[in-house]
Amino acid sequence: MADAAFHRRTLLKGGLAATVIGGVAAPSALARPTGTARASVEAPQIYGTTEWGARPPNGEIIVEDHAPTYIVVHHTVEPGNSEDFSKERAFEISRAIQNFHMDSNGWVDSGQQFTNSRGGYVTEGRHRSLEVLQGGTQHVQGANVANHNSEVIGIENEGNYVETEVPQALWDSLVQLVACMASQYGIPVEQIMGHRDFNSTQCPGDVLYARLPELREEVAGILGTPAPTSRPQWPLLRVGDRGESVRTAQRLLRKQGVKIPADGYYGPRTAEAVDAFAAEHGVPRHTCTAAAHANEHGLLGADIWPLIVTGERSTAEWKASLQR
Ligand SMILES: [Zn+2]
Repeated sequence: MADAAFHRRTLLKGGLAATVIGGVAAPSALARPTGTARASVEAPQIYGTTEWGARPPNGEIIVEDHAPTYIVVHHTVEPGNSEDFSKERAFEISRAIQNFHMDSNGWVDSGQQFTNSRGGYVTEGRHRSLEVLQGGTQHVQGANVANHNSEVIGIENEGNYVETEVPQALWDSLVQLVACMASQYGIPVEQIMGHRDFNSTQCPGDVLYARLPELREEVAGILGTPAPTSRPQWPLLRVGDRGESVRTAQRLLRKQGVKIPADGYYGPRTAEAVDAFAAEHGVPRHTCTAAAHANEHGLLGADIWPLIVTGERSTAEWKASLQR
């Protein structure tokens, strides 16, 4: 396709491929962190906002003068996973997400920087995200991880991966895109995260979230960097859960004055108390950019734990102790 050739050229011109192939130092590589391993990274084809027919943003696109710290994986939680793996579908969801974010959420543009379709087509989300990624030194502020939008570059993956397997095409393009971002910005693979590592949300779904260690490993393989060490994250507790982590959370909440039994059962009463606790502490709920989120009530995750754990252990010790 003619447009494929166009994109490849655009990327090369922008320095994306040129600066990441084989450690060859192109001029634009000079601005990036030194000492970072350079390996051969094939830049993915990314369709810009013009290609998929984006509306113009209705406000200022903020470009911050620093690289993002984390790469964040989301899922879009479509009602039913589409079997349409075409490029047209990728363009269609890009438009649908942008419309939703601008018309329903009142945002200036798409919340995510990039979108990855089930057919493995990658599109630019928020305007300027592609050129800024090509530059490798700046960050387009998005709206996809509450309270962390200056730190994260987010990828919306089409579909719902709470229970469903990830299509191979989506996986392959995700690996490629994340490797490209990590290389462009010198982001360590340990800083490839899921949305739930920041907010109390199921996003990117249990199935895709469980594959993040594999994603980090594959990206490390592409970049030629050492295999990542696994770091425990805050667990996500939800209605129906039972066990020691639930009991610990209940005990910690009780210390904060929340009136719930420490019975190790995460029932509706605990869930309601957690929602109230979140509201009291100004923690945003239902924070994903996804169009619709089911079963997002009463979640206790990465933004609640730090408010309830005590100083008797470090954060890392708490995280390690809460793994079941
Ligand atoms: Zn999300």
